Amino acid sequence: MAESRDGAMATRAIHAHGSQDPHGSPHAPIYNTTTFAFTSTADLLEVVEGRRSGGLYTRYGLNPTIFALERTLASLEGGEAARAFTSGMGAIAALFFAHGRDGVVCIGDAYGGTLELAGEQLPQLGIPSWLLLGHELERLDEALNDGAKLVFVETPTNPALELFDIATIAERAHAHGALLAVDNTFASPVNQQPLALGADLVMHSATKFLGGHSDLTAGALIGPEALLEPVQGWRKNLGSTIAPETAALLSRSLRTLVVRVRQHNENAQAVAEAMARHPAIARSLYPGLPDFPGHDLATRQMNGFGGIVTIEVDGDGAAAARVADRLQLFQLAPSLGGAESLVTQPRTTTHHDLSEAERARRGITDGMLRLSIGLEDGADLIADLERALA
Ligand SMILES: *Cc1c(COP(=O)(O)O)cnc(C)c1O
Repeated sequence: MAESRDGAMATRAIHAHGSQDPHGSPHAPIYNTTTFAFTSTADLLEVVEGRRSGGLYTRYGLNPTIFALERTLASLEGGEAARAFTSGMGAIAALFFAHGRDGVVCIGDAYGGTLELAGEQLPQLGIPSWLLLGHELERLDEALNDGAKLVFVETPTNPALELFDIATIAERAHAHGALLAVDNTFASPVNQQPLALGADLVMHSATKFLGGHSDLTAGALIGPEALLEPVQGWRKNLGSTIAPETAALLSRSLRTLVVRVRQHNENAQAVAEAMARHPAIARSLYPGLPDFPGHDLATRQMNGFGGIVTIEVDGDGAAAARVADRLQLFQLAPSLGGAESLVTQPRTTTHHDLSEAERARRGITDGMLRLSIGLEDGADLIADLERALA
């Protein structure tokens, strides 16, 4: 677990907001306001010209509730600064527009929205992109030689939990003068610290583990202020700044992030091990299993193995769907990272619109079920799976 002079992560998750409320609230109040009034023009110019930080206009992100959240986000990832967004895609779009205009390389079977934005929509604007799967990584230098200045990698990936070596990819990007941004949504800062491994920026869909209760949509970028400054202009004019109420809700969630993620890890390890032993399961994919292909890298690069387990039912897509339909505690829904366990069949949700050949190329099988392991009792989750598989 990352330590700093401001304490261990569990301490910083609670105290790093740094808000000093004049009425004594132990955390930042919700400034549910669009604008802030000043006592004089001279006072207003202090904020407008950046000599004093303070509230100004909420869409600019200049709102104390948002500042408090961003200080916590920066501290959790060990970054200098952070910016919070309306969604994970809002963060990715601002990142690509700010730093990816010479070309974006996406590594791995990334989130569907990321691949659509990079692979289809950026080219519509004349921005080149390269989408490289894990076995195509040798083409990274080619893309960088062709002028790409932003490398974007998600690790572990969805749903196959493929791992990428952040330190190695950072070196290769930097050798060409490019930046590396890591989508750290699946791991969370508790399990993986990309900035310490050499990445330049970290991105989150805070909708998932950071929010942790399936009740908010938000995104984040964390890194040096010099790299976030250009992103800020895009956030402002794409209008993708987080709302104060959502910022406060996310700040509330972050106070319990460390204890939640530790329990997600513990439950997921137990489920993955039980599924690895189960006769009706062909494969149990989890970085914490010793025979998982990415296990050694996960042990070096991660502090915990995460809350997502992907199982492959021994049978066809219909057999896997029957298992998903019979589960009672696991709800059938395409998201992850909440307190409640969820199940989704990639074939029918995240990877539904792809051709069979493209699913096969990405290693997605019809029998796969992605399990987002929640905070229920681990034995109850295993019993639910065993009942559905019987
Ligand atoms: C959900 C998700 C996103 C997109 O986040 P939204 O908050 O839904 O916009 C991006 N990356 C990963 C890995 C995700 O799981």
